[in-house]
Amino acid sequence: MSAPASSILNHVDGVLHMEDVPLPVIAEAVGTPAYIYSSAYIRTAIADIRSAFTGMPLTIQYAVKANSNLSILALCHAEGCSFDIVSGGELARLLAAGIPTDGVIFSGVGKSVEEIDFALKAEIACFNIESEPELERVAARAEVLNIRAPISIRVNPNVDAQTHPYISTGLKQNKFGVAPELALELYQRAHAHDWLDVAGIDCHIGSQIGNVEPLLESLSCLLELVDQLAAEGIALHHIDLGGGMGVTYQNETSLDMDAYGAGVRQILGARKLALMLEPGRSIVANAGVLLSRVEYLKPAAEAGAPSFAVIDAAMNDLIRPALYQAWHDVLPVNRHEAQSHVWNIVGPVCETGDFLAHERELALEPDSLVAIASAGAYGMVQASNYNARNRACEVLVDGGEFRVIRRRETMADQLRLEQELPG
Ligand SMILES: *Cc1c(COP(=O)(O)O)cnc(C)c1O
Repeated sequence: MSAPASSILNHVDGVLHMEDVPLPVIAEAVGTPAYIYSSAYIRTAIADIRSAFTGMPLTIQYAVKANSNLSILALCHAEGCSFDIVSGGELARLLAAGIPTDGVIFSGVGKSVEEIDFALKAEIACFNIESEPELERVAARAEVLNIRAPISIRVNPNVDAQTHPYISTGLKQNKFGVAPELALELYQRAHAHDWLDVAGIDCHIGSQIGNVEPLLESLSCLLELVDQLAAEGIALHHIDLGGGMGVTYQNETSLDMDAYGAGVRQILGARKLALMLEPGRSIVANAGVLLSRVEYLKPAAEAGAPSFAVIDAAMNDLIRPALYQAWHDVLPVNRHEAQSHVWNIVGPVCETGDFLAHERELALEPDSLVAIASAGAYGMVQASNYNARNRACEVLVDGGEFRVIRRRETMADQLRLEQELPG
């Protein structure tokens, strides 16, 4: 499957490079902390999904929420992706990136009237409906605006994705989608409705899934419904299996994309259905690092006590370790002579939960640069201004070149919303 991170991150003469750019050069140019992404990795990850599904009518609907930087969206568009959005804001980002919206699908359990109207007017490809009242709301807005709404029902197949509970979405106790029995009823209603067009069926059972079995089990569950609907004269155009393909952060095996493609091919059989996938993490997670500089070293005062390396990145920049106990590799940028030592890598935020990594053996000195690996997905998109910290800048590397794709936030940016008030 996707090229391992090591193919885009290499030490050359003791200095960590992303593709052909030495990371200290970027730190010098833009400062730290900074998110840095590899174009080559993103292109390869997209191509690898395509090749696993060769010969099938697949569209890749990149899940915008994983990394919604306009330049990342433009790159995915250039590589032939369409998009899966979960808010009106993400639709606005696609428009701002100059991307056509006719291939967009809209997921999410809480679509507001405003968001539905926006998406109807943008003539997106499909609303992925997650509940009965949502179906009614979309139908009502379609009628008011005089724009037909293409819909898919998100089916909750009650399959255990075997992943972290916070990112598992396909069990019946989760808030997502509807049970197969209700889906059948909603399809019949939608089919009979003047302002709804039945387009497809979808599911998304969770994220960071390492095993093809739950994904294929969901496919089989959806196909049972597809066949039942066909028997009632309701023909679906597409089947959307969601995202969730797992990647390697530490020692997990990433999802075997070729086995996934082969399994889907076999289970789909001769059915004439367009296929959609909604990958986010598997396209961008290992494309990115969070580059940071050591501010202070606080070696343990006594044997057995922890030592801390305080860096200039924090939980407000990358919340995954604090939120999901996520493990990120920490790579030294300059290999040097300092003695290696076991460090807890922590940020400046006033929370004990503000850590990036625990107990890593690294040779660090004050001012050393470190690269927190696998930070391209669910990193910058979850950044906040906690402790009134400015959000990091983002940089896109392509071969030997790099460019800023989001400038570092300033205090003026942060203060504007409070200072520009009347009176
Ligand atoms: C988050 C999400 C995705 C992307 O999941 P990844 O694990 O990043 O691939 C796809 N579809 C829906 C509906 C989602 O909510």
